Amino acid sequence: AGMALTLAACGGEGAGGSGGAGGEGAAAEDLTIGVSMPTQTSERWIADGNNVKEQLEAEGYTVDLQYANDDIPTQSQQIDQMITEGADILVVAAIDGTALSGQLENAASNNIPVVSYDRLIRDSENVDFYVTFDNFAVGQAQGNALLQGLGLRNEDGSPGTATGPFNIELFAGSLDDNNAFFFFNGAMDVLQPLIDDGTLVVKSGQTSIEQAAILRWQQETAQRRMEDLLTSAYNDGSRVDGVLSPYDGLSRGIITALQNAGYGPTLDAANPMAVVTGQDAEIASVKLINDGVQSSTIFKDTRLLAEQAVAAASAFAEGNEPEANDTETYDNGVKVVPSYLLPVETVFADDIQSVLIDSGYWTADEVASGQ
Ligand code: BGC
Repeated sequence: AGMALTLAACGGEGAGGSGGAGGEGAAAEDLTIGVSMPTQTSERWIADGNNVKEQLEAEGYTVDLQYANDDIPTQSQQIDQMITEGADILVVAAIDGTALSGQLENAASNNIPVVSYDRLIRDSENVDFYVTFDNFAVGQAQGNALLQGLGLRNEDGSPGTATGPFNIELFAGSLDDNNAFFFFNGAMDVLQPLIDDGTLVVKSGQTSIEQAAILRWQQETAQRRMEDLLTSAYNDGSRVDGVLSPYDGLSRGIITALQNAGYGPTLDAANPMAVVTGQDAEIASVKLINDGVQSSTIFKDTRLLAEQAVAAASAFAEGNEPEANDTETYDNGVKVVPSYLLPVETVFADDIQSVLIDSGYWTADEVASGQ
């Protein structure tokens, strides 16, 4: 869309849309950045919003941060309003990645660069940059964590002590979130060969992403689907040994369904909890991992993602292109969006200290406390 250059084009060298600003600090102070986040029901998005806002404000920008309660019309209205109120740059984590073309057209006609945050906005040429994690690698890490939790593989990828066969079930995220496909495809890249050779058995037969998907990543929906799977596919006395879950909120719904059906409560109980994966290192799930209930999660350091979003916004503010480290992967249906991808880390109980506490993401007290 060429939006990358518009701020510089209309504001003069190094300055924002208002022109006339002197040094870079003054330019930042003249600029407002609209930050649109999907929901406050998951703590990762609250942390994302706070981190982006704090870091942008530290650079002198004015920030308009809005959450949309997972409601698509609310997010559309909030973005339109940011534009009306004079936002100079937008940072957007979409609820439905296909529903914002109108807003992005509006942004483009007002020369506002758009940074897609964590979730790719699809079907629009007006996405100027994408900051995210390596989402396919997230899925692969989830697949590997499931194998490791079941004892089929060691951390270094070598064969584990278990041989299977194991019954597993598959969950996926919301189909309007482009990431859901990357997570599922990454996981299946690891799991499919073992399904094909009979080491893993998806007893329900529900192996497509459409069958596995949970709309809007809702915990209750995941709990209900797990309950339905247990009633329909495991009413013959058989056990589900592992569950691929792409997000900690879903993992907790799945664990509740399993506990209600008599599994656990922990992974080393006589009738053990199934091995359940996750994502985001939400504190409720980190506690469950610490207590031996949830098997693993994937840690994505939202502080680093916020830094990349701020770097991208600052680059646009100064009339530059943000620095991409991937220009091939993220085709949004109209164009390949230049991206900056961050790495991720798998967390089992043994990794909580070194990965989450030592880095200051959570404190030991938060992890250990009873609530
Ligand atoms: C994010 C995940 C998150 C999920 C549910 C995805 O787009 O990448 O980190 O678990 O949304 O909020």
